[in-house]
Amino acid sequence: MPLKTNAHPRGIRLAVTLLSGLLPILLGFVILYMQAERVLRLSSQQTAEEATRQFELMLDNTAQAARELLPLAGQSCIDVNLALREQVTRRPFVRSTNLLWDDTLYCSSLFGDYHEKMASGDYANGQLLLIKGNPVTPDTAFLVYRLSDGKRGAMSTLDGYHLSNILRLIGRQTLLLLQVGPHWLSADGSFHEGDPPEFPVAQNTLASSRYPFSVTAGFPEGEVWRYMSSEYPPLFSLLLFFGVIAGFIGHVIQKRSSSPTLEMQRALDAAEFVPYFQPVVHALSKKCTGVEVLMRWNHPKEGLVSADLFIPFAEHSGLIVPMTRSIMQQTARLLARKSASFDEPFHVGINITANHCQDLALVEDCRQFLAAFAPGSIHLVLELTERKLIEPSAITHQLFEQLHELGVMIAIDDFGTGHSSLGYLRQFNVDFLKIDQSFVAMIGIDTLSSHILESIIELAAKLDLAMVAEGVETQEQSDYLTAHNVNYLQGYLFGRPIPAADFINALSDD
Ligand code: C2E
Ligand code: CA
Ligand code: CA
Repeated sequence: MPLKTNAHPRGIRLAVTLLSGLLPILLGFVILYMQAERVLRLSSQQTAEEATRQFELMLDNTAQAARELLPLAGQSCIDVNLALREQVTRRPFVRSTNLLWDDTLYCSSLFGDYHEKMASGDYANGQLLLIKGNPVTPDTAFLVYRLSDGKRGAMSTLDGYHLSNILRLIGRQTLLLLQVGPHWLSADGSFHEGDPPEFPVAQNTLASSRYPFSVTAGFPEGEVWRYMSSEYPPLFSLLLFFGVIAGFIGHVIQKRSSSPTLEMQRALDAAEFVPYFQPVVHALSKKCTGVEVLMRWNHPKEGLVSADLFIPFAEHSGLIVPMTRSIMQQTARLLARKSASFDEPFHVGINITANHCQDLALVEDCRQFLAAFAPGSIHLVLELTERKLIEPSAITHQLFEQLHELGVMIAIDDFGTGHSSLGYLRQFNVDFLKIDQSFVAMIGIDTLSSHILESIIELAAKLDLAMVAEGVETQEQSDYLTAHNVNYLQGYLFGRPIPAADFINALSDD
């Protein structure tokens, strides 16, 4: 069936609506997530750079102290002690200074004369060493800068307190750590040995180009979500808004594309509605005196669709008017070539609905139809069903008057099934009554229906109207109707509806 009010099951339509709403939300969400990741990566990189810069600045001071003291190495501790202390006082961040000779620390700003072996192998690049603490401050890590020249050596130390301060202050939102060789310092100032932890989000390790240390920055697990939920709520609202709009549009588009009207409009544009002809024969001679034009839908997927399945939709949508116009034009184009060969006016029955009678456009359609034929070669008969009576109005009055002037004939279709009154028949200047096939089907079967049929025939005779019996399928029906003076017969007994072109070809063969 080509037309269903719901082209897709409800579930699928709902799913498509949801999907069209969710897709932009999801897409927007992914973009925001990526954006948040980018922001965090950038922030982590900047933090690492800033911390590195600060550490380098501190080390510059520390290194300067060691550089100035190095030439003094080898002199007796009493002689240089003051110079050692002066560096501690003068230079910011420097916590202590020491002199070495032949890898032995022999003089310290803290303890004066001293003696401790200090292998340079523990130092990163022989230069830097992070130490857990010393006997004076066992819980505060510090960084040792060592400078050597032959047997001479100078060491200055940098307090871990300053280092962890930097880690804490610069990396307020970021996790930061300072690594020197196998040791590292976390923001809480504690000393660690071994591999530092991996930061789950946006980890960035930056090695100083000037000193052998590196800084690692990053964020804890779930930071992307935390960042998004604190920074993006207005964008989320916007996304939700777009999602609802997109869902709504998806819903409307589906509704439109699944609407029978749209599908029929498409079919009309694609010229899928085609005329079929069914012969109407003279009852006595059984000679074909005309045709009833029946519409078929040549659907590309469904094949040939019979009129009952789509005419109600076409009537409802108003498309029946252009559809009938198309059928009339096709009929005229096909049949006009034959019109010169008709010795008597050939009857062409076209089905018209009540909708079609609401304006005067039908008059013009009929005028054009008739103009295609040799004058007097055909009789155009409009078939109006009795099932749906036409509301009489000034327009319908005018319409039927003008149709009559054009010589268009009127048949009441499906006669006997509705309630047309005598007045109704007179008003439209009816020429034919088409007896409904349900009465014809009862011939020889149901005596009551036969009685009704007889009264219909009697009524038509009294009104002086010609009669056509529809749905004649058996010889018995044909004989009965002929015996009861029904003028014309139509039904499978004489011919089924066939494509107009085939019908015309068959005419030529006769
Ligand atoms: P209708 O005007 O009463 O047309 C006669 C219907 O009876 C046709 O069905 C025809 O195929 C069928 N028929 C003809 N002879 C026999 C027979 O011996 N036995 C049986 N059982 N049926 C027979 P169809 O073509 O399916 O059309 C159905 C209805 O659709 C038509 O009833 C008419 O009301 C409407 N229709 C068809 N074409 C058009 C059209 O172009 N415009 C409008 N407005 N309505 C149309
Ligand atoms: Ca009809
Ligand atoms: Ca009928």
